Amino acid sequence: MKIKIFDTTLRDGEQTPGVAITQQDKFKVAKALVELGVDIIEAGFPSASEGEQKTVKEIARNFPGKICGLARCTKNDIDACINADVDLIHIFIATSPIHMKYKLKMTEEQVTKKIVESIQYCKEHGFKVHFSLEDATRTEEKFMIDVCKLVDEMNVHYINIPDTVGVCTPERMKYIISMLRKEISTPLAVHCHNDFGLAVANTLAGIEEGVVLPHVTINGVGERAGNADLEQVVMGCKILYTNKFETNIKTEKIYETSKLVERLYGIKISPNFPFVGDNAFAHEAGIHVHGVLAESSTYEPITPEMVGAKRRIVLGKLVGVHAVEGKLKELNYDVSDEIAELITKKIKELGDKGKRVTEIDLIAIADDILGRKKEEKIKLVDLRVYNDFGKKPFAFVKLNINGKEEISVSEGVGTVDSALNAIRKIKEYSDVHLEEYHLDAISGGSDALAEVTIKLSNGKKTVIARGIHEDIVMASVAAFINGLNLLE
Ligand code: MN
Repeated sequence: MKIKIFDTTLRDGEQTPGVAITQQDKFKVAKALVELGVDIIEAGFPSASEGEQKTVKEIARNFPGKICGLARCTKNDIDACINADVDLIHIFIATSPIHMKYKLKMTEEQVTKKIVESIQYCKEHGFKVHFSLEDATRTEEKFMIDVCKLVDEMNVHYINIPDTVGVCTPERMKYIISMLRKEISTPLAVHCHNDFGLAVANTLAGIEEGVVLPHVTINGVGERAGNADLEQVVMGCKILYTNKFETNIKTEKIYETSKLVERLYGIKISPNFPFVGDNAFAHEAGIHVHGVLAESSTYEPITPEMVGAKRRIVLGKLVGVHAVEGKLKELNYDVSDEIAELITKKIKELGDKGKRVTEIDLIAIADDILGRKKEEKIKLVDLRVYNDFGKKPFAFVKLNINGKEEISVSEGVGTVDSALNAIRKIKEYSDVHLEEYHLDAISGGSDALAEVTIKLSNGKKTVIARGIHEDIVMASVAAFINGLNLLE
């Protein structure tokens, strides 16, 4: 059965507390969602502001046939959607006793009248309608059926059953959907919130009973505890029901889309988040690593490649010699079994002291045991950064390269950028490309130690390097110079 994905990262997701994204960033997310294969994108709430209406309109113009806008059952809200040229208008009104009494201060009859007027108004203007009974899972059964039958007869395109405050259970969702399926023929959607951690379970339960349009968001962003997560709903459809439910999602693009939303929304994904968290395909324990390297399905339900992620072997005190050998091979070290045993022993010793061994540490340990200590050819002699606010900062660097001094100056968008640009301006390093940059504060406070980890490439070789300093510019420069030394 074909399942269409309705993504509301740009609407419910933007209502995440603390999130405010620019028009440009909303556009970037919309583009990524289209590339991911999302069927309908709820791009925003056009009546919220003039800017929002403009953004939704711009998105609708660029991605025709896919864009939905949200509206309450008012002429003003619907007009904003019409003016934004959306392809589908999502109108909603609450139908639960709590919402009708305290929020709307309306009776069932008044609510029903609003529904009819609003749907008629959309239709008169030639728009398709997606109708939501807000707080449906707390709505009295009889009224829910009455409303659904009414909008079914008015030929709306979709009827949505939102679990607005996330209090449904999979069993109850199955009951509601199967009951409605007997009463109406309009395709059904669900919109589940994660207040009890059941958003994905409730969504899949709905799909089992015939829901064809699950509402989801990337990384599960959304109000309060968020919405059902796109990654989990899509992979659930694909893997747990062995393709009984098919989507148009290009699953290998899931990871990059998730990372984009993580960055633009500023909401960090927890390491144990399914499929896209840092640990989703990371293995530390020795037995697990041996199993995964021999046959990944032993300890991974899907391969990381399916969602565009990478497997990560973490070296700690539980590490096995197989994992160490695997990792060394990746780093282009060809060592004997005996040397691999020695390196493993050293990692375990460090692990016992509570230290996690990173790739850089492993290189240092391997070089140490192999007696290949590298002499640093590039040293920092002087660094000065000028930042006069309102003007572009610039940096001056003096390096000692193989005994010869080189001076370079450059501007940048910020102080770190100007310092790194200055180094890259030196002829020998013009082909060095910064592929990744991570900044972590090791302890709290403005005098905390900053740890910068970077990935550098010169086209032939890629290295990971680290720098630690109280000042982030210095930590960044130190990491960059360490990386250049590794590239030598
Ligand atoms: Mn919602």
